[in-house]
Amino acid sequence: MDIEARAMIEQVCDGILRQVDRAYMAQCGRANTAPDKLWRAMAEGGLFALGMPEEHGGVGGDITAVIYALDLLGRAGIFPTRYVTTQMAMVTLARNANDEQKRRYLAPTIAGDLFWSFALTEADAGTNSFKIRTRAERQANGDYVVNGAKMWITGIHDADWSILVARTSGFDADDRRVGMSAFIIDPKSPGITIKPLDIGVHMADKSNEVVFDNVVVPAGNLLATEGRGLNALFDCLNPERLMAAGLNVGLADYILSKTADYAKMRAPFDVPIGSYQGVQVPMGHAKVRVESARALAYQAAEKYGRGEEAGLESNMAKAAAADAIMAAADIGMNTFGGASLDMQQDMIPFYLWAKFQEIAPINKNVTLCHIAMNSWGLPKSY
Ligand SMILES: Cc1cc2nc3c(=O)[nH]c(=O)nc-3n(C[C@H](O)[C@H](O)[C@H](O)COP(=O)(O)OP(=O)(O)OC[C@H]3O[C@@H](n4cnc5c(N)ncnc54)[C@H](O)[C@@H]3O)c2cc1C
Repeated sequence: MDIEARAMIEQVCDGILRQVDRAYMAQCGRANTAPDKLWRAMAEGGLFALGMPEEHGGVGGDITAVIYALDLLGRAGIFPTRYVTTQMAMVTLARNANDEQKRRYLAPTIAGDLFWSFALTEADAGTNSFKIRTRAERQANGDYVVNGAKMWITGIHDADWSILVARTSGFDADDRRVGMSAFIIDPKSPGITIKPLDIGVHMADKSNEVVFDNVVVPAGNLLATEGRGLNALFDCLNPERLMAAGLNVGLADYILSKTADYAKMRAPFDVPIGSYQGVQVPMGHAKVRVESARALAYQAAEKYGRGEEAGLESNMAKAAAADAIMAAADIGMNTFGGASLDMQQDMIPFYLWAKFQEIAPINKNVTLCHIAMNSWGLPKSY
């Protein structure tokens, strides 16, 4: 990424951060209300044009630009979940949509007019996405009828559109990649019931269970080729891991700065607790992890941006950033001591988020197994 691109992204993020700060996000989290001011500022600020093709209204560049924006927003303690789900949809559309779909869906999303969710996970399938059972049956007129249920779908209650991954044929053990298809769906379609889940993580958006009861999806909303939806899905998994990495290193820096401020001020034994090696050493260690993860994230993003296979690096960046934010949140909690449990101190949301990053969007075990498998050719374990 060149200096001009960096300056442009900093300008966009500064504009957003002039309208939205951590205090506002924390207040929305505690009240369990949507940070609408953030969503508006992101759309108006042009955040969605980053990394997107100029022919559809984007400003060009690649995923590195997106990671940098997430890193900067994270450093201010902001969780822009809808940016991540919408980016995943945009990457899927940019790589798999036909011209008409790009004109109709991608261009207005780049302009900031549409929010997206991404509906893959199912309750019984969990980490094993091959086991999903939501079914899309093609009708005589070419339209599809969808039945089934999705779990944990973030932001779909408010999204304009969603990418849906469903089965168009049964599971084939000989070729697990066939039989899944990707669709553009309108979450307000008749037959869709959305039930918000009561979750403990303040992540600026609700996650939902979604039930599909004979939902009609027009033929024109199929992405790419029927039965090959897994390719479309895989296109956005590395970007998702990279976005998680970029956001988490930014958030980890925010947590460490907040911790340092508290450690300079709190002095139960008349000297600041920040003067103790027992506080400084884990803080220093966490900062090393943050910067190592950041370096990995940009290295992986640049490789992905060049169009090279970057699965191994993306998983490493995701795992390193999850470890880094956990280390930062852990020393944050310890340093705030009893005050860490006071919601007004705004430390608990980061601790829960850090734990959540070990579990999703992909759990730590599977990321590490992927790294072991691809580094040394060990047998696939999942
Ligand atoms: C708040 C939230 C928001 C989410 N948003 C979305 C969304 O917008 N769209 C979407 O499609 N999904 C979403 N997800 C789903 C998320 O991606 C899944 O939760 C995740 O993939 C893991 O599935 P699971 O929680 O069912 O875990 P399970 O599959 O039940 O696994 C539980 C644990 O078992 C272990 N484990 C499982 N499999 C293996 C293995 N093969 N090897 C070693 N250990 C293993 C891991 O420790 C794992 O954490 C969201 C989840 C949450 C919690």
